[in-house]
Amino acid sequence: MGTVYKTLHLLKELRLIQELGFNKGSIRYDPDMELHINMVCSKCGKIDDYKAENVENLWSVILLDLDIEPKGQRIDIYYECDDCKKNELLF
Ligand SMILES: [Zn+2]
Repeated sequence: MGTVYKTLHLLKELRLIQELGFNKGSIRYDPDMELHINMVCSKCGKIDDYKAENVENLWSVILLDLDIEPKGQRIDIYYECDDCKKNELLF
């Protein structure tokens, strides 16, 4: 198996992507989970999404280690956003 095919197979096993079958035997892969980290400002409550390839890599490693099939995921990081930091300096 080629590397790309192996990777797709692994991602499918991990349920990070969904195999979409079509009539003529062609297969397409679409993400069925939008993997991201919620960056939540603990002061104003603003939420930014952080998406990066390294998050997906980390997630794959974690799932392999846990040996589970996740039904969903949510990762939150609490921090102080730039606006709140600026405001703190003003007062
Ligand atoms: Zn804030």
